Amino acid sequence: MYDVLIVGTGPAGYTAALYTARYKLETIIIGEMPGGLISEAPDVCNFPSRKSISGMELASKMEEQIKDLGVKVVYDKVEDIDEGKGNFTVKSSRGEYKAKKVILATGQERRKLGLDREKELIGKGVSYCATCDAAFYGGKIVGVVGGGDAALASALLLSRYADKVYILYRKGEFFRPEPIRVEEVGQNEDIECIFNVNVVDLIGEEKLSSVKLDDGSKIDLDGLFIEIGSIPNNEIAEDMGIDMTEGGYIITNEERKTNIKGVFAAGDIIDSPLKQAITAAGQGAEAAASAYEEIQEQKVKE
Ligand SMILES: Cc1cc2nc3c(=O)[nH]c(=O)nc-3n(C[C@H](O)[C@H](O)[C@H](O)COP(=O)(O)OP(=O)(O)OC[C@H]3O[C@@H](n4cnc5c(N)ncnc54)[C@H](O)[C@@H]3O)c2cc1C
Repeated sequence: MYDVLIVGTGPAGYTAALYTARYKLETIIIGEMPGGLISEAPDVCNFPSRKSISGMELASKMEEQIKDLGVKVVYDKVEDIDEGKGNFTVKSSRGEYKAKKVILATGQERRKLGLDREKELIGKGVSYCATCDAAFYGGKIVGVVGGGDAALASALLLSRYADKVYILYRKGEFFRPEPIRVEEVGQNEDIECIFNVNVVDLIGEEKLSSVKLDDGSKIDLDGLFIEIGSIPNNEIAEDMGIDMTEGGYIITNEERKTNIKGVFAAGDIIDSPLKQAITAAGQGAEAAASAYEEIQEQKVKE
């Protein structure tokens, strides 16, 4: 029986584990992949203590820190959580665990364009992760679909490798970008922005060779990076009957408690406006503190 089981190995989950471990609670954290979304961030320049760090390195430092504190780290998909009398049974694809408290830190995943050959061309020119794949496009021509901050960050990273980067965006101006990124994109001669267009077709046999736009034009591309936002990983929360917004984000109070006693949530999965590593980490700490308080209260009652 663990005191706390955390689902999700991103900044929210790792920080929650850091706090529960320091509260001396028996902690297990289960996540599908190390690091979560932040490990896809090329350059994190807004996490205090470092001017610049790759998301991958930041995440691996977080993981190292909790392992040193004795947290059990399991990389696996949690499939089901059942509520029992005062505890929870958590089933993953390879195991079953019991815990007194659960913290959901399952984050979000990338939205797909939904085009016919999109799935088939993943890894053959289509990518959702500039950090992971940018280096494969040295001297090539690439496109980035999207107009938010993540799209601009990816275009800037890609411009370090590719000869030419097109940003293809369906609206007339970027969506809530960091002003500094807009400046950097504007000053970058290798980046060309094409507004008011949608990618409607992916062309290429073995691999992507061009894309068709809804204005009838065609652009020859070696790679297309899709950066059109995210959808919440909320299947477990939904199955458990946790209250969510219309958009599928978990509703918590300030202590990160959900409507189910003993279940807390933190990070990008919750209904909170700023979806960043630092806010996810802060909410993870809050969830951990609330779990600790509940465990202490129960001990006093017993
Ligand atoms: C390209 C890019 C650049 C970014 N740059 C920055 C930046 O510079 N600065 C910044 O602060 N933020 C940045 N962000 C945002 C930041 O990555 C997120 O806000 C942060 O990762 C959220 O952390 P989280 O722990 O809530 O969720 P995530 O990091 O998404 O982690 C959630 C984890 O839970 C796992 N999971 C989901 N469901 C299950 C399940 N059923 N079982 C097991 N595991 C599960 C997921 O696989 C994932 O590993 C960037 C994001 C992207 C995509």
